[in-house]
Amino acid sequence: MVQKSNAKRMLVMKFGGTSVGSAEALAQAMGIVESNRPNWTHMVVVVSALSGATNLLLDGAMQAAQGKPEAYLKAEVALRSRHTAMAEAFLSTGNRQERFRFEMEELISQFSRFCQAITILGEATPRALDAVAGLGERLSARLFASALQERGFATEPIDAFDLIVTDSQYQSAVPDFEASSEKTMNCLQSLFSRGIVPIVTGFIGATPEGIPTTLGRGGSDYSAAILGTILEADEVWIWTDVDGVMTADPRFIPEAHTIPELTFREVAELAYFGAKVLHPKTIRPVVDKGIGLRVCNTFAPEKPGTFVIS
Ligand code: ADP
Ligand code: ASP
Ligand code: MG
Repeated sequence: MVQKSNAKRMLVMKFGGTSVGSAEALAQAMGIVESNRPNWTHMVVVVSALSGATNLLLDGAMQAAQGKPEAYLKAEVALRSRHTAMAEAFLSTGNRQERFRFEMEELISQFSRFCQAITILGEATPRALDAVAGLGERLSARLFASALQERGFATEPIDAFDLIVTDSQYQSAVPDFEASSEKTMNCLQSLFSRGIVPIVTGFIGATPEGIPTTLGRGGSDYSAAILGTILEADEVWIWTDVDGVMTADPRFIPEAHTIPELTFREVAELAYFGAKVLHPKTIRPVVDKGIGLRVCNTFAPEKPGTFVIS
């Protein structure tokens, strides 16, 4: 275990899809990481795929199963163009941009090969869909980490296959906390000792045999909660595109306002009535351990957001 030496030892932050989905958003997210770094001994960042990327990947694979390759071919073009535009905005044209482009092409070509196989089989199994769905986070973690490195920030992208062990319930895999704890410690300890901030893919894990799984749609919150619990974080901060948990979905109810403090039970009630901002299952481990959980707005980081208490 990492020693608990002072109050501000370990912070886990998660950025959702819209918080990394454009150059402006990524710049905001990076600023948040950089400005908070000096206050914490260790920090872990969990990232979602760029907004819309997971849908593109899954839609491509499912249409391939129907014998329609157009969707995945279009998805490849869209994913390449969005990630390339971001790389051009944040990475100088030297080695770092080339390395990112190389990794991006490798991941996009994995997507293409999966979809070709799915087309031939005429079937997209949950296992295949998980391998495809996780490619978005693998792209965004590499992009985020490279962009921070470009600014001189010590960071490394990590695929959560190397951290989170799950069962084989594809598309809604259940984490094994004990096995994940061992793997996470083995993998992250050496980064922590060198002051490096891991940028971890949300949403994904792997079976004990190493087969890719996902924790279910919106599962990056769960990834942050799992890592926060395992690492005995002091706090977990969920960065999203609204000012925290609100009285209603602000997209539909403009008068909705932020709830400054909520109990776990209240989060569960809100979720029951359709609020998808936080899934209670995903935050339970953190709240149960008494770890501070905050939901805040990437685009208005000065606002306090919502604190979830047990
Ligand atoms: P992220 O990509 O950051 O994980 P999500 O789309 O999963 O973000 O969740 C944030 C969205 O949840 C908001 O943009 C908002 O429209 C919606 N939402 C629904 N109900 C609520 C609520 N009660 N409070 C805040 N946001 C809500
Ligand atoms: N990218 C995944 C999804 O769209 C996970 C997440 O964003 O939390 O469901
Ligand atoms: Mg979400």
